[in-house]
Amino acid sequence: MIMKYIPTIGLEIHCELSTKSKIFCDCPVSFGGEPNTRCCPVCTGLPGTLPVLNKKAVEYTVKAGVALNCEINEFSKLDRKNYFYPDLPKAYQISQFDLPVCKDGGLTINTSDGEKFIRIERIHLEEDAGKLLHDGFGKYSLADYNRCGVPLIEIVTRPDLSSSEEAKAFVEKVRLMLLYSGISDCRMEEGSLRADVNVSIRPFGTDELGTRSEMKNINSLKAIARAIDSEIIRQSEILEDGGKIIQETRRWDDNKGESKSLRSKEDAHDYRYFPEPDIVPVTFTKEEIESIRNSMPELPDKKFIKYTSAFGLNEADASLLLTSVSLSDLFESTAEECGNPKSASNFIIVEVLRRLNDSGMLPEDIPFSGKVLGSLVKMLENEEITAANAKKVLSAMFDSGKDPETIVAENAYRITNDTGEVEKTVIEILSNNEKAVEEYIGGKEKTFGFLMGQCSRALTGRGNPKVIQQILRNELDKRKGGV
Ligand code: ADP
Ligand code: MG
Ligand code: ZN
Repeated sequence: MIMKYIPTIGLEIHCELSTKSKIFCDCPVSFGGEPNTRCCPVCTGLPGTLPVLNKKAVEYTVKAGVALNCEINEFSKLDRKNYFYPDLPKAYQISQFDLPVCKDGGLTINTSDGEKFIRIERIHLEEDAGKLLHDGFGKYSLADYNRCGVPLIEIVTRPDLSSSEEAKAFVEKVRLMLLYSGISDCRMEEGSLRADVNVSIRPFGTDELGTRSEMKNINSLKAIARAIDSEIIRQSEILEDGGKIIQETRRWDDNKGESKSLRSKEDAHDYRYFPEPDIVPVTFTKEEIESIRNSMPELPDKKFIKYTSAFGLNEADASLLLTSVSLSDLFESTAEECGNPKSASNFIIVEVLRRLNDSGMLPEDIPFSGKVLGSLVKMLENEEITAANAKKVLSAMFDSGKDPETIVAENAYRITNDTGEVEKTVIEILSNNEKAVEEYIGGKEKTFGFLMGQCSRALTGRGNPKVIQQILRNELDKRKGGV
């Protein structure tokens, strides 16, 4: 189809905060668990209970605001958003309406057309709702309230995105920023990070945004992109047929690759927002905001600049190392120990990541520190061990948890500089392989590699390859001369 329309996309990203307890009570925040075992009268909203706002949740919201370049409101308040749906038994959600904790921020993303700044309108704090299970119970639905009251932030963008590619890049970047801020595990597959996708299209050459539809709670990057692309096509076909887009909420079914209308879209007034009477407003002094700002860990965009400029890594490697907090921590301490960030990066990307891929292990499960890994990279750098043996040492580090020095000593991996020993080995190998020697002398150059391999193996990989090569050539030349 020829594209006659410009797509516009706005996202509402929900992120569960990893505080110890819930937002208004001391029930634990953790994923899963037997249904309805992690809740109390407060988070299930029984009449007569009183919510107490979790200070950490507010602090984490400020941290999200700092990471996403927002202004922090010195005065914000909580509001009741009234709706009747069994996922929230008290029939209202405590959220923030007109005075959220953070406003007016944004992030720069990389797109195929270069950099683009995506504005964030607001970040507000609210309570999560429970989960309803609709499938497999005949005519019933079941409710699990464990998730009720898990602190949640909602990040609302301006309608600045114009493709699924941009939306994906934005969610990915937001996810990384929040992850490094240490406020959420951002596990999309567990729903701790999920997005509502708003899509509209308008004809080329026009400025006024079209009517949008909204698809809620999409929890993978792939699904976000697929939902957007499919919605752009659906709306284009309607306009092509002379129809009109209606403002509605749709449900995206990622298995079927299609969306279905759920309900016509509610407006803010449908929720009858009013200030939450049981919770005092949230106030900050400038100093308090500053002190939270100063407590922030180094964020990935800063690290990226450090990796590519001071450390001299290429952009692809830097991005790869930054996909996980544990991985970038490992890299930085490995680099510090071995004194060479490039060698550290190469060894981690090629050898360590290969090992993780093969075993399905996560970077956080690596059983040794960067300091220990750095000492291995240093031995390799100083030509104390060969590359082949460095791999074996790494394997043993994963399997036994022993440190590289011990493994090198136990297996006699240290490269020998004793040329006498190499000479002795070469002579021995040559006399054990008379046929190969004859072939070599007869002009079969390939045999050299075979003999080289034999010598290396006999020296358990400790021989400096350059030295072995030289001595082997010498010895063979002597025999050549003797023919
Ligand atoms: P709500 O969905 O709660 O009514 P908003 O009206 O603030 O909230 O908008 C929600 C999201 O929809 C925002 O991310 C905003 O950028 C996006 N949005 C608003 N208008 C459009 C539009 N015409 N096309 C695409 N996205 C839009
Ligand atoms: Mg919405
Ligand atoms: Zn509770």
